[in-house]
Amino acid sequence: MVADSVSRLEIAGDVASLRAKVAEWRRLGETVALAPTMGALHDGHISLVAQAKKLAHRVVMSIFVNPTQFAPTEDFSAYPRMVEADAAKFAAAEGDLLFLPSAAEVYPAGFASQIITAGPAAAGLEDRFRPTHFAGVATVVAKLLNQCRPDVAVFGEKDYQQLKVVTQMARDLDFETQIFGAPTVREADGLALSSRNVYLSADERRAAPALYRALMACAAEIRAGASIEAALVAAREALASAGFAADYVEARHAETLSPISLRANGPIRLLAAARLGKTRLIDNIAV
Ligand code: AMP
Repeated sequence: MVADSVSRLEIAGDVASLRAKVAEWRRLGETVALAPTMGALHDGHISLVAQAKKLAHRVVMSIFVNPTQFAPTEDFSAYPRMVEADAAKFAAAEGDLLFLPSAAEVYPAGFASQIITAGPAAAGLEDRFRPTHFAGVATVVAKLLNQCRPDVAVFGEKDYQQLKVVTQMARDLDFETQIFGAPTVREADGLALSSRNVYLSADERRAAPALYRALMACAAEIRAGASIEAALVAAREALASAGFAADYVEARHAETLSPISLRANGPIRLLAAARLGKTRLIDNIAV
C-alpha cells in the first residue's frame, strides 16, 4: 500500500519543476493547497494534509529546514531529517507533491532580501526569545507562496504566533493565497506533537504533558471567574514544580496577540514556552 502510494507521489527538488506541476493542475481547472513544514513528519503535519485536501484538489507539502529561522545557538544542525520516512507518510495521507528544495535553491548566492515583520511578530512572545525567528519564517513562507502560488496554505495552531504572523504578512503584502489554521494534534496524554519531542529523555517525556495540563487548568480558572493574572501565576508555579523553566506563560487577545487583563475583552488565547532540560516546548490553547 505505502510502496504503491510512494510510487505515485510526485517529488520536485526545484522551483521550476514545482511550477510545471502546479501549471499542469491549473490547466485541468484544479485548485492547489500548500502545507509548509520542516519535515520529521508526525500526525500533526498529516492533519494539515487532511485539512488541505478539504480545501483544494491538490496538496503540496514543502519540507525545508529553513536555516534563517534558527538562531546560531539553536538546533539547526541537530534538527531531525528523515525524508524517506516523510515521503512514505505524505504518500499514505494521499498528498500529491512533495517539494524538497535545497538550501541553494531557496537561498542562491547573492540572496539579499528579507521581510520585516511587526504586529503579531512583535507581540513579546516567541520574538522575545527568538528575535530573528519571524523574519526568517516570513521570508521563507513568502518565497514558498510565490514559488507555488497556491489557492490556500495551511498552518498549525500549534505555532499560534507563527499562524498570526503569516496571516498578517499575506494580508499586508496582498498575497492571493488564503491562509488557514488547523487545530493542534496531541498525544493521548495531552502533549502537543512536535518534531522536537524526540529530544526528550524518558523522564522528560513523562513530565512534558504538565505544560498542556497547566494551560488547561489556567483556562478553567479564568472561565470560572479567577483573575487572569492569578491564573497565570498558578500556571507558572505548576510548570516550575513539574521541572520546567518557563520562558513565558501569557494570556493574549486571540486575534491581535496584544496583552489582555479582562476576560470581557477577549477572545483569549493562552500561550506558553518552557524548557525541559535542553528541549524547548511551546503550546497554546483557547480559553
Ligand atoms: P514544522 O515542521 O514544525 O515547521 O511545522 C510545520 C507545520 O505543521 C506548521 O504549520 C506547524 O504549526 C504544524 N504543526 C506542527 N505540529 C503540529 C501539531 N501538533 N498539530 C497541528 N499542526 C502542527
